[in-house]
Amino acid sequence: MPAPLSSAPLDILQEVFGYTAFRGHQAAIVQQVIDGGDALVLMPTGGGKSLCYQIPAIARHRAGLGVAVVVSPLIALMQDQVGALEEAGVHAAFLNSSLDLEGVQHVERELLSGRLVTLYAAPERITHPRFLAMLDSLQERGKLSLFAIDEAHCVSQWGHDFREEYLQLGLLAERYPGVPRIALTATADEHTRADIVERLALHTAQTFISSFDRPNIRYTIVEKDNARAQLLRWLQDEHAGEAGIVYCQSRRKVEETAEWLQDQGIAALPYHAGLDAEVRRRHQDRFLREDALVMVATVAFGMGIDKPDVRFVAHLDLPKNIEGYYQETGRAGRDGEPAQAWMAYGLADVVNQRRMIDESTAEDEFKRLQRGKLDALLALCESLDCRRVRLLQYFGEERPEGWRCMNCDNCLEQPARWDATEAARMALSCIYRCHQHSGFGFGSGHLIDVLRGQSTEKTRQRGHEQLSTWGIGRDLSEAQWRGVIRQLIALGHVLSEGEYNTLALGESARAVLRGEVKIELREPKAPTPRGRRSRSG
Ligand code: ADP
Ligand code: ZN
Repeated sequence: MPAPLSSAPLDILQEVFGYTAFRGHQAAIVQQVIDGGDALVLMPTGGGKSLCYQIPAIARHRAGLGVAVVVSPLIALMQDQVGALEEAGVHAAFLNSSLDLEGVQHVERELLSGRLVTLYAAPERITHPRFLAMLDSLQERGKLSLFAIDEAHCVSQWGHDFREEYLQLGLLAERYPGVPRIALTATADEHTRADIVERLALHTAQTFISSFDRPNIRYTIVEKDNARAQLLRWLQDEHAGEAGIVYCQSRRKVEETAEWLQDQGIAALPYHAGLDAEVRRRHQDRFLREDALVMVATVAFGMGIDKPDVRFVAHLDLPKNIEGYYQETGRAGRDGEPAQAWMAYGLADVVNQRRMIDESTAEDEFKRLQRGKLDALLALCESLDCRRVRLLQYFGEERPEGWRCMNCDNCLEQPARWDATEAARMALSCIYRCHQHSGFGFGSGHLIDVLRGQSTEKTRQRGHEQLSTWGIGRDLSEAQWRGVIRQLIALGHVLSEGEYNTLALGESARAVLRGEVKIELREPKAPTPRGRRSRSG
C-alpha cells in the first residue's frame, strides 16, 4: 500500500504545485480555512489568490472531507485552472455554460462520487435547485469541504463589476453552516469590503489584507498632446519588442489605434466585446503565446488572463476610477520584473467622464459615488507628488509623511510647479462674465480665446471683446490655460455641463475667487507647433 498523502499545506505546496514557500498571507489563510474558519482575502491581482483555496481543498479532501466548490464568474479562468490542476494530478472539473448535457452529467457523477477534489461553478449554477440538492446530499454525508467565492466584489452594487447572481450566494451560510467559506477579491475599498461581509454573511470571517503595492510597476501619467504620437514614441523608446496592453475607451478607437500602430510597424491586434468570439479567442491566444504583441483593447480584455511577462499597460483614455486603473495596470509585470504603466490624460477625458456619469440613468446615490471615485482618480492624475503614495492611500495604505517610491514619474523627475492661483481666479471671472453677458455658458476653447484676447468670429459676434476679462490672460499659453481649466474641473471649482460641455462655476469657486484657496499646477511641457494639437486636449 502506498503511504497516505500528506495533508500538510507546505507539503502540498511543494509536491503538487512545485513552489518552495508561501507568499505573504498565503500560509495563514490556508491554515484558517483548513481549520474550518471563514476568511475574507483582499489581495492584488497576481498576488496568488488561487492557492489560498486550492491547497485547503486538497488538504481537506485528503482528510476525507470531500469536495471544494469554487464560485467564479470567469469561464476562461475556470478552464485554465482545471486544466492546470488535472495536470498536477488533482481531480478537478467545472460546470458552466460551455458544457453540453453529457458533459454536465459526467461532472455531476464525479461530484456525487466524492472523487472530485475541486469543482468550479458559475454563480448562477450554485443556486439552481438541482445543484443545491446535490450539495445537500454531499453535506449530509460530510463531503462538502469548503466554498471559495472568487471575485467576491461582484456582490457589491457599488463596485464596477456587480453581478446579480452573486447576491444569491448569501444563502450558502445558512444552508451549509459548518462548511468554511473563503471570499477573495482584488478590489479593496472600504465600501466594497463592507458589502462583501454583509451580503455573504462573513461576519465572523478573519480578514487578510495584503499590500496593494506593486513595486516593480513604474507609473507615469502624461498630459495629452497628440496621444497616439506620444504612445508610439514611448513604445519605440521603452518597449520595443515587448508585449503589452493599450486600453482605449471605445471599440472604434480600439480598432483605429490597432490599425494605426500596425501602419507604424508595431505588431498590434484589436480586442473588444464587439468582435467575433472566434476572432477574440485567436487574438487572445496570440497575445498569450507571442513575446512582442501589443493588444489594443477595451476593458473587456484582461480579466483572468495570466500572462506573466506583460511589460506595459498603457491608457489612451481615462479609466473609470482608481480600482479600474489599478486592476488594468496590475496586468503588467506579474512575473515581478520591471514593468510600466503609462497613461495620457487631458481636458477632454475629464469632461467626457463627468458627462457619462451625469447622463447615466443610475440613481443619484450611485452617481454621487461615481463622481467621488472619478475625483479621486483625477487627483491622482493631477498629483505633483508620488503617484504610488496616492494610489496606495486610496486602498487604505498609508506611507510615512514625505515617503517617495522613486519608481514613478513624479519621484524620478520632480515636476516643475507654478502658482496658478491668480490664473484660476482669472478663468473663473471670465466664465462668470461671459455667462452674465450672453445669458448662457461657453466651452473651454472660447473661454481661452477670450482670456488670451484672441479675436475670432465668435468673440466678435458675442461682444466678448468688450468684457473686462478680455485678454487678461495674454501672458499664459493656450496649453497652460487648458491645464488651469482641466484642474479647476478636476477639483470641482468649475462644472462642465450639457451637450456642449459649457463651463459654469461650481459651489467652491467663490472661495477661489476670494483668494482663499491656493492652486498649484504642473508646468506644462514646451508647447508643440500649432495645428498639430487638438483644441480639446
Ligand atoms: P491572483 O488570482 O491573485 O491574480 P494567481 O493565483 O493567479 O493570482 O497567482 C499569480 C501567479 O503567482 C501564478 O502564476 C501562481 O502560480 C504564482 N504563485 C502563487 N503563489 C505562489 C507561491 N507561493 N510561490 C510561487 N509562485 C506563486
Ligand atoms: Zn513615486
